[in-house]
Amino acid sequence: MTGPAAPTMLALRYFDGRSSQSRDVLLSVTQGTVRLTQPHDGAVLRECALQGMRWPERTARGARMVELPDGGQLHADDIAAYDAWAAAWLPHSESWVVRAQQSWRGVLVALALLVGVLTVAYQWGLPIVARGVASLVPLSVDEALGRNALAQIDGSWMKPSKLPADTQARLRARFDQAMQAAYPQRLPSYKLEFRQSTIGPNAFALPGGTMVMTDELVKLVNDDDVVMGVLGHEIGHVTLRHGMRQLVQLGVLQGVMSIAFGDYGSLITTAPLLLGAAAYSREAEREADEHSIRFMQASSISPLVMVKFFQTMQAEQKTKSKSTPLGISIISTHPADEERISKFRAAAGAAN
Ligand SMILES: [Zn+2]
Repeated sequence: MTGPAAPTMLALRYFDGRSSQSRDVLLSVTQGTVRLTQPHDGAVLRECALQGMRWPERTARGARMVELPDGGQLHADDIAAYDAWAAAWLPHSESWVVRAQQSWRGVLVALALLVGVLTVAYQWGLPIVARGVASLVPLSVDEALGRNALAQIDGSWMKPSKLPADTQARLRARFDQAMQAAYPQRLPSYKLEFRQSTIGPNAFALPGGTMVMTDELVKLVNDDDVVMGVLGHEIGHVTLRHGMRQLVQLGVLQGVMSIAFGDYGSLITTAPLLLGAAAYSREAEREADEHSIRFMQASSISPLVMVKFFQTMQAEQKTKSKSTPLGISIISTHPADEERISKFRAAAGAAN
């Protein structure tokens, strides 16, 4: 900062910290020593080390107050004169933070950086945190949440299945076999449920391993291999604990909201609602699709059956554009259908 040389002495009001009376003084700094002198005769009132003083931060507005080590204060009435004097005679330079605060550009850059950091934290940090936290949650919590959620879903959207008993038995046996093939080492716990639904053809998995397949989906696809492919996707959500991870994410967000707005809601009571309302992330759907491919290949089912599945579902959605209250389903196709279809097609190509 250059300009006309500031006078070595600056006029200020001095409060000694004991009386409320101020007196006019002149401030100067030479070789690390601060000197206060009387304006009328130049007599030295006080001397102290530059290091012991607390100099004010430069702000756009507001007073400039210098604090002395013994509690005394110096007040500058002429802010511009103080800033010019400080720039010329004080040895310390302003930090970049203080300089940035002076300019709108600096403030805007800081704001943009803040938004960027929050976006990165939300996009990448949150899922990583959720994965870590979810791994600390015992599986029994997943099971309790799943049971609770199923009871609520049954109460609202589901009726007992009307699929013939032999169809149910055939699909269960087929799925048990496929599970054995896909998990030869350690079989995860799972439970396949059939339900008649008010939400049309659908399938979803709950934390803890309960998978619900609607009668409407079984009838619509009319192909056991397709049902296996869909279940392979759903068991992927279960074993990768997407439900719990999602809950942890929502919990972290809710915690942040609580801190921000002082609203302390209970996650446990809202968890089933959140599970039902929120769709899995694109990443989770992609992982479940990849899981489905491995699951089908373990039972020598061509991944092409999922191409057929998506095409059937697309045709169905065109005829009946019904919105589903259950976001966590295979139908809530987060990544574009075409993207998912081409992945299954590529997997089939690689297998052949
Ligand atoms: Zn899914």
